[in-house]
Amino acid sequence: MHYISTRGASPKVTASQAILQGLAPDGGLYLPEFIPKVEITVEDTKEGYPKFAEKLLTPFFEGDPLLEHLLDICNEAFCFPVPLHWLNDESAELELFHGPTIAFKDFGARFLAGALEKIIARQGKDITILVATSGDTGGAVASAFHKKKGISVKVLFPLGKVSDRQQQQLTCWDENITTYGVHGTFDDCQGMVKEAFRDTSLSEKWGLTSANSINLGRLLPQIVYHYYSSLLFQKKVGKKPVYIVPSGNVGNVTGAYIAKAMGAPIGDIVLAVNENKTIPDYLASGVYEPRKSVQTLANAMDVGDPSNMERLQILFPSHQERVAHIASYSVSDAQIVETIGRIYRDFQNPICPHTATGEWVRDQYYKGVPSIVVATAHPGKFESVVEPEIGVSIPVPKQLGDLLNLPTKMVEIAPRVDELFA
Ligand SMILES: *Cc1c(COP(=O)(O)O)cnc(C)c1O
Repeated sequence: MHYISTRGASPKVTASQAILQGLAPDGGLYLPEFIPKVEITVEDTKEGYPKFAEKLLTPFFEGDPLLEHLLDICNEAFCFPVPLHWLNDESAELELFHGPTIAFKDFGARFLAGALEKIIARQGKDITILVATSGDTGGAVASAFHKKKGISVKVLFPLGKVSDRQQQQLTCWDENITTYGVHGTFDDCQGMVKEAFRDTSLSEKWGLTSANSINLGRLLPQIVYHYYSSLLFQKKVGKKPVYIVPSGNVGNVTGAYIAKAMGAPIGDIVLAVNENKTIPDYLASGVYEPRKSVQTLANAMDVGDPSNMERLQILFPSHQERVAHIASYSVSDAQIVETIGRIYRDFQNPICPHTATGEWVRDQYYKGVPSIVVATAHPGKFESVVEPEIGVSIPVPKQLGDLLNLPTKMVEIAPRVDELFA
């Protein structure tokens, strides 16, 4: 299997090369040159999630040295449950929040970290991951890469601009992870990362690599849980579920589209977005207009220019196809809050603000239709929004509690690249 750039002006590469590079040299994102079909059934889910993942992902690594390590990588990365939580006979939530940082980004970050560790062992040159974070991504990346051999990680966050809990999760690491509290804004942090990448001598010397959501190593594992859960749903209900996916950079939902194209029993795929409505507006008008992001309660989806849109545009090359295959609805903060309360009253099920966008869309447009809402984060991660609406406190999951009790360490710096490499 080879990978091609969405912009079509870079040479084909192998999976390992695509994962190591992140972005293609022409600035595009990597996609497989074709969508493989796999003989896989609900029987395969009985072997456990990691084994299912290995089988489904095998064709993506055909001919690549990572293939022989694929099962090890999946076993190590996916060491937590991936359950469907049934609200009634034909409605479920796919809970993707049982990993170490209790949000779905654990799947992608952990798979990427495992794959990179194997790639580094083979090539013999160490690398440095640079990640700027406004809160959650940095924690998932730090957790996933902690103690990975041959890889150092520098996490940058804007001092005083993240919540206490987020800061704890960013600064509780040691060994190969260094966290920088930057006297500046998130944009300053991101600017420093971009500047470091542009400096070719710095980039060469440190082996700079990014771990952001455009990396192929994060996309591939996001195919697996959609396929896996659709088989389990179909077995129980006898029908294909509609998937409603809370979306920001649309990486997660791209995984759902690829699963469906591979043959998973998936009906319509629907993007729930917050008040950042670039995509629903595009589908309505036919004109794609990236915007500045606006802040909402579902803040991990505050994206005005979704980076994975480039992949969806290749998967669906014409506007006509996009309109036929992509449905998207925008959900306001008021609707998020009301939905958190309703789902708790009706099902005693606390949900996070991101998941609430999906539940609102289900209630409005897919009532009574067999469907899965993808639950992207644990409600305990957003307790200040969720608890007032449901009137009870949410116990902190064990893995988060463990992180909250670790000692912390960070380096405070001015927003200048030279301080990062001092
Ligand atoms: C990142 C994130 C999303 C959005 O996922 P995309 O792949 O960017 O569309 C939704 N919910 C949570 C909790 C997230 O962390």
